[in-house]
Amino acid sequence: MSNTNIAMVGAAGRMGKRITYLISEDPATSLTAAVEGTDSPFLGQDIGELAGCGKLNVDIIDDILKISGSDVAIDFTGAAVTLSNLDKYRQAGVPLVIGSTGFDKNETAAIENLAKTIPVVFAPNMSLGVNLTFKILEMVAGAIGDDFDIEIIEAHHRMKKDAPSGTAMKMAEIIANKLKRNIDRDAVFCRRGLIGERSDKEIGIQTIRGGDIVGEHTAMFCGAGERIEITHKASSRDTFAKGAVTAAKWLKGREAGLYSMFDVLGL
Ligand code: NAD
Repeated sequence: MSNTNIAMVGAAGRMGKRITYLISEDPATSLTAAVEGTDSPFLGQDIGELAGCGKLNVDIIDDILKISGSDVAIDFTGAAVTLSNLDKYRQAGVPLVIGSTGFDKNETAAIENLAKTIPVVFAPNMSLGVNLTFKILEMVAGAIGDDFDIEIIEAHHRMKKDAPSGTAMKMAEIIANKLKRNIDRDAVFCRRGLIGERSDKEIGIQTIRGGDIVGEHTAMFCGAGERIEITHKASSRDTFAKGAVTAAKWLKGREAGLYSMFDVLGL
C-alpha cells in the first residue's frame, strides 16, 4: 500500500494529538501538516513533541490552505470551526475526514454540499465498536417495532462542548428512521416537573457530563416485563483516533462524495 500523507487540523487538541501519535506509529502514513487556530499558544512548536511521539519536523501553523500538498486532511476542531473552513477545504481540494460533532441540519447540508466537489468521510463516531452498535440498533429497532419505549443516555467528560453527543443523535436517527419516526418531533431532551405520561412515539435523549469520561452510550428498549440495554463504552480516545486514520487511508484517491464509517469499515 502506498504511503498516505495526512494533514491534521485541530492538531493540538485532545483528538488531534492522539491522531498525530497514531500517524507517527503507522508505517503507511506520514504527517505533512499540523494546523491550529490563529490564537493557539502552540503555533511554531513541533507537533510530534507536543503529541509525545518525538520530533516529527512538522511545525504547527495557522494557514489551513497549506494542507493542499497532502493526500487527505483530518479535521477534529469542533462544528463551528469546521464550518468556518468549508470554503478553504473546497479551495484546497484535499479529501477530508470530518470528526467534529454538533452540526444541525443546515450545517450538515453544507457538508453534503462540499462532498459534491471533494471526497468527505463524515462520522460522529469513528470507533469500530460504535459503528457495530449502530448496526445492532437498526436490527433491534426493526424487530421490536413500536412495542417498547426508547431512551438513549450518553455520558462524556466535563470539557465536551456539544450536547447531546453526535453519537447519541446518530443512534436516535437510526432508530427513528427504522421506526418511521421524526427526530425533530419525537426526541425529548429534558424532563422536569409534572410532565404527564410518556407518549408512545417519543425517543428520550439524556446527557451526563463529568470528569474524564471518554464516551459512553446506552440505548434502552423498555417493554412490559423486560428491557433491552445496548451499551458502548469507550475507555480510550485511541479508538476514535484509530478510526480516523483508517478513514484517511481509505479515502485517499476516492471520487468526490459523502462517505460514512459504514463505507470505510465495509459494514
Ligand atoms: P479539543 O477542544 O481538545 O480540540 C480542538 C482543537 O481545535 C483545539 O486544539 C483548538 O485549538 C483547535 N482549533 C480551534 N480553532 C481552530 C482553527 N480555526 N483551525 C484549526 N484548529 C483550530 O476537542 P477534542 O476533544 O479533540 O474534540 C474535537 C471535536 O471532535 C469535537 O467536536 C468532538 O465532539 C469531536 N469528537 C469526535 C469523535 C469521532 O469519533 N468522530 C471522537 C471524539 C471527539
